[in-house]
Amino acid sequence: MSRQSLNQSAPVRRQFLIPQIVSRNARDDGRRNGVAAQCAKPRFLNESHVSRFNRCFAGLSRILLIVVAGLVSAVQVMADSDHAVVLLYHHVSDRTPSSTSVSPQQFQRHLEFLHQHEFEVWPLDQIIKRLFDQSLGVPDNVVAITFDDAYESIHDQAWPMLEKYGWTATVFVNTDAVDQGHKPYMNWDQLRELTGAGFALGNHSASHAHLLAHESGETADEWRRRVTEDIRRAERRIFDETGLDTRLLAYPFGEDSIELAGLIDSLGYRGLTQRSGAIGAHTDDRAIPRFPMAQGFDSIERLELAVRARPLPVTRVRYQPPREQGVVENPTALHFKIRPGGWRPSQLAC
Ligand SMILES: [Zn+2]
Repeated sequence: MSRQSLNQSAPVRRQFLIPQIVSRNARDDGRRNGVAAQCAKPRFLNESHVSRFNRCFAGLSRILLIVVAGLVSAVQVMADSDHAVVLLYHHVSDRTPSSTSVSPQQFQRHLEFLHQHEFEVWPLDQIIKRLFDQSLGVPDNVVAITFDDAYESIHDQAWPMLEKYGWTATVFVNTDAVDQGHKPYMNWDQLRELTGAGFALGNHSASHAHLLAHESGETADEWRRRVTEDIRRAERRIFDETGLDTRLLAYPFGEDSIELAGLIDSLGYRGLTQRSGAIGAHTDDRAIPRFPMAQGFDSIERLELAVRARPLPVTRVRYQPPREQGVVENPTALHFKIRPGGWRPSQLAC
């Protein structure tokens, strides 16, 4: 990934919406039966845009879809070693808001499923390093577990369960809440216990603000300076308290944009979203998808759907009208190119 100094303009490498396609074949890795597909949420649109996106893609008849590059002959699944899945949790508790919680009992069931079905839980940074830096790929059935917000139930509930399997996770910390002793956040002693046990920490900004928003009267430069300071403050606090120098950032509220992705890239970070999808070597490393897990979306069936997902190797996307004319407008046409091989075009669906 390119690393640019702060006074350079932010690179914008991929400006277009990229649909994520996930396998719906729950019982098979796709090699024998092929890959069924569904559209997930688009990149660079935050959660508030999703319903609009879904309406836009209510039927293929409503969009002009041009898929090229040898689709007809594509009948084999992708190579086993170029994909992985990242799971996202917040609370592991039955006393916290359901929209961000998985009960301890259900979390235990998730871990048991992964264990019984021989999934390997790897540290997130190890997966990212191998996929993006070393082009080594990862074994099939590799999953990473992440937690956003550093809630104490990670320490009290999730850690002991993970420990039984010899697994760890990455916790994305919004450091102001920890510094201010807010509950139900962990304190730094608890976070150091986790890192001492092999957990990794990531940057979740210091403030956990809606980073996309410009304050009233704020110029683009002023926005960049403010958000940069927010991210750097979290970076310093994590380093000062734990000695860890993280270069992974989970967007607060899962909200990212072209501008914010460019900014974190210029700061040397890779970005994690809250949009469902598997990751592969071709994935934009400023918008790495994760499957959120929370009550209502945490059944074993959905977990299985998530961990058996495969990324669709989209290589080029173009809007009509051009993307620059505004992210809030639904695209009237979406053109994308998919690398041949590894999936069945007859099973492509939105
Ligand atoms: Zn958060």
